[in-house]
Amino acid sequence: MKGKQYNPYENMLSVLTSAAQQLGLDPADYASLCYPERELKVSVPIRMDDGSIQVFEGFRVQHSSARGPCKGGIRYHQDVNMDEVKALAAWMTFKCAVVNIPYGGAKGGVQVDPHKLSREELIRLTRRYTTRIMPIIGPDKDIPAPDVNTNGEVMAWIMDTYSMFNGHCVPGVVTGKPVEIGGSVGRVEATGRGVTIITAECMKANNMNPASTTIAIQGFGNVGGTAAEIFHGNGQKVIAVSDYTGGLYCSDGLPIDEILTFTRSGKLMKDFEKEGIRHITNDELLTCDCDILIPCALENQITEDNADRIQAKIIVEAANGPTSVEADEILQKKNVIVCPDILSNAGGVVVSYFEWVQNIQSLTWDLEEVNAMLNKIMLKAFDEVYTVSEERSVPLRMAAYIVAIKRITTACKLRGGPISLA
Ligand code: NAD
Repeated sequence: MKGKQYNPYENMLSVLTSAAQQLGLDPADYASLCYPERELKVSVPIRMDDGSIQVFEGFRVQHSSARGPCKGGIRYHQDVNMDEVKALAAWMTFKCAVVNIPYGGAKGGVQVDPHKLSREELIRLTRRYTTRIMPIIGPDKDIPAPDVNTNGEVMAWIMDTYSMFNGHCVPGVVTGKPVEIGGSVGRVEATGRGVTIITAECMKANNMNPASTTIAIQGFGNVGGTAAEIFHGNGQKVIAVSDYTGGLYCSDGLPIDEILTFTRSGKLMKDFEKEGIRHITNDELLTCDCDILIPCALENQITEDNADRIQAKIIVEAANGPTSVEADEILQKKNVIVCPDILSNAGGVVVSYFEWVQNIQSLTWDLEEVNAMLNKIMLKAFDEVYTVSEERSVPLRMAAYIVAIKRITTACKLRGGPISLA
């Protein structure tokens, strides 16, 4: 679903500019947020299984380290480009500030369709990419994590490569690792769990009864699949889900456990068949008759082309940047509440923070502790954003940016100002 000449970085800048105007932000503070601190573009040459050499393009962008080391995932996707990674890095800066964890923002990516690579090729790609970005990552500098098409296994390869080159084990260089090598319990589900916490708060704030609320979820990977599983486990009705091949719909609620077993065995949603379940397109999913819509796939899914047809009362943005600026305006006019990505999907980076803290202290926490602290941080962040939204009569997205920008610029000022060393 591509809107007209969509550029995620321009989308980010447009929201940032509106928030800066709302806040009457100092021009120096505003300028410092508009540009990433560091952009690295690398070549990733690897030997393919047939003996040929292919060179892929890779990126790592550090948007801000004002509040702590940079933090952000690594994405493997054929459409990854510098502007997308720059936008994703900036969103990480704002997200870490909204939930008030001591990190700045970063993001990385490799322009590759990983489904076309063998496992051995994927390992070589990951190791080579790691060596290329090695000068700028590290537990005190910049800590990668999983994002679209990367997972704990990929993080383990990154950790191993970084550790080999440093001559000792450095678990804190990445988060989202398998638990056996320093990962945190609760990290895999953390983003999806956080999404369900925020969705529950949105329902409460709008006097909606969870038992009768219908939910549609686009994207059924780490985030969407986990969120669907938790909603379903809580007895809530998930009526539509999708992956990149299309979606499934049942107005009485879908058998999420069965669909998860099917997709987690590597199968695609287009091949799932069961009586009473209808196949739908992703466009039909986004515009279906539901109370809550949760995009969990990629950027720019809700655009000026479909925003007018959206029927949900609330959109909880689990993906990063799923709504274009134009769509946001249309949704606002329709009184659709949009809970922004930098709040809704922050659960992942919160538990990544817990993982990093455990790594640098050589401690392990149990699941109860992790989930209780995640819950506490997400509820506090929602409350802070909601309060600003009420006080200033602004949408939740604007309120979240205001909370984040205040924290980032305060950190810059305490450190002597954004241009103190010039
Ligand atoms: P994933 O690779 O595990 O899953 C992505 C899902 O989206 C898959 O089901 C895929 O089939 C589907 N998809 C891809 N393209 C699609 C399309 N054009 N239309 C419909 N569905 C499509 O990725 P993930 O980790 O679940 O991440 C999903 C989103 O959440 C991304 O925007 C990511 O940046 C964001 N996010 C992820 C995390 C995390 O911890 N993994 C944290 C914060 C934000």
